[in-house]
Amino acid sequence: MSNGYKESNRILEEAKKIIPGGVTKARVAHVPGKYPIYMKYAKGSHVWDVDDNEYIDWMCGYGCIYLGHQYKEVDDAVKKQMEVGFTSFLSNPYQNEFAQELIDYIPCAQMLRFFKTGSDATTAAVRIARIYTAKDKIIRWGYHGWHDWSLSNFYGFDAGVPQATRDLTLAYEYNDLESVKKLFAENPGEIACLITMPFETEMPKEGFLEGLKKICAENGALLIFDEVRSGFRAKGGSAQVQFGVTPDLGVFNKAMGNGYPISIVVGKREYMQAVEKGLLSATFFVSTLEMAAARKVLEIIKRDGVIERLWELGTRFQTQLKQIVDQSPIDFSVVGIPSMPLLKFEMKDEELNEKAKMAFYADVAANGVYLHPNHHWFVNFSHTEEDVDRTMQVMANALKVAEKAIEA
Ligand code: PMP
Repeated sequence: MSNGYKESNRILEEAKKIIPGGVTKARVAHVPGKYPIYMKYAKGSHVWDVDDNEYIDWMCGYGCIYLGHQYKEVDDAVKKQMEVGFTSFLSNPYQNEFAQELIDYIPCAQMLRFFKTGSDATTAAVRIARIYTAKDKIIRWGYHGWHDWSLSNFYGFDAGVPQATRDLTLAYEYNDLESVKKLFAENPGEIACLITMPFETEMPKEGFLEGLKKICAENGALLIFDEVRSGFRAKGGSAQVQFGVTPDLGVFNKAMGNGYPISIVVGKREYMQAVEKGLLSATFFVSTLEMAAARKVLEIIKRDGVIERLWELGTRFQTQLKQIVDQSPIDFSVVGIPSMPLLKFEMKDEELNEKAKMAFYADVAANGVYLHPNHHWFVNFSHTEEDVDRTMQVMANALKVAEKAIEA
């Protein structure tokens, strides 16, 4: 039984006086007033909020908690690095070994550069493409972070982005090669790169990713896969393996550090060497704490069959969820790859759809399951069959609550 969110809401009111919006993220609570906001403790696949409610955590820090909260082997590797120092002016020679391990793991990788956040790395990849091609415009699809170029023309989130920057970022329609061809035709010789998530919850149509590669090659633009989410969660560890299409550059981030901030840009030597002509440098890029964490994560991925396990549990999750929602009068679809599932509410009446959705997620949270209404979820290596089965019970009940909420 939920203790409610009194303490979360109290802290939020205090926070609003000193932190704009009260939190350091874009959104506060997924269902206003009916979701936890502040966390007290996290371990494995569970989190506890400040009102002492326990949750099965399917958001996993937006996907960066990959093996589980406080995963001992990873934290021990970090502690060991702490004992010898970690942010020096000098580079750490041990990064060579780790870089080579990543190069061996990712198809498009012949060289790489380390960064910290996803936004760092997508921005660096675009910079590399601009240096290499000496062109300014880019085409994108999906979320690539908060920097000016990537928020240009992005669902109205471009307050503060200069018009001159917006004019350089063009957006194509996913799974629609014609929309890509049109942009290249309208901007002849001007496109440096096409950066795209290889998929989100909709899978690429047959030949779509190959088509992107061909169009980019024909137009002298680099193809960049933003694998910030698909990295280490797609089959074989990347969309490039799962779909057999090798981009020119790739960006990886979330899963690789199990919560420690680290990202990489990888790619063919010829393109990556463009880095040396620009300035892609920052104080903390050399910090080795995150490298120690990520190196241990990669070792565990290869040793323990992590990706296969995420798919196995995710398949159990999606199969059971489909059975539950198939019997409901509400229209749903269960989407995403098994390691990143989502339940999509698809009623035609938008108002009713939103009402059903909010009632559903408020009830799910009140019963100890943490999900996001509008963003796919993440399976981590500490989740268990029991976590999945309990989540299904809670969702089945919440479905009844949602059906009731729209009956009236
Ligand atoms: N690319 C993708 C596909 C992402 O999902 C995100 C983060 N949600 C980013 C880039 C940006 O990463 P960060 O939030 O670490 O800057």
